[in-house]
Amino acid sequence: MTEDEDAEEQTILEWAKNYAKTHHWILNSDEKKLGVVIRGLARNKKKFGEQYCPCRLRSGDKEKDAAIICPCIYHEDEIGKDGSCHCRLYFRKDAPPE
Ligand code: SF4
Repeated sequence: MTEDEDAEEQTILEWAKNYAKTHHWILNSDEKKLGVVIRGLARNKKKFGEQYCPCRLRSGDKEKDAAIICPCIYHEDEIGKDGSCHCRLYFRKDAPPE
């Protein structure tokens, strides 16, 4: 991993922590799984210019794909219904990862 990649991951991780905090959610407490999602977001940002969800398919159409820039348009519903977003990045505090 280059220093740039490392710095980008750190930036995204800090952003995700703050975003979770403002919504009273928590991040996945499994460091390994959390790292996979953060790395995926950083890679997509580097490759495609946006932090596209690493767990969803991009169509290649920028307008359509705006829906899956993290935080995607689905995450609030998923967290409310399932306890976590599709990527298992954000969790409700009362439904922490097992
Ligand atoms: S599923 Fe989670 S990680 Fe993926 S874009 Fe939505 S909020 Fe971000």
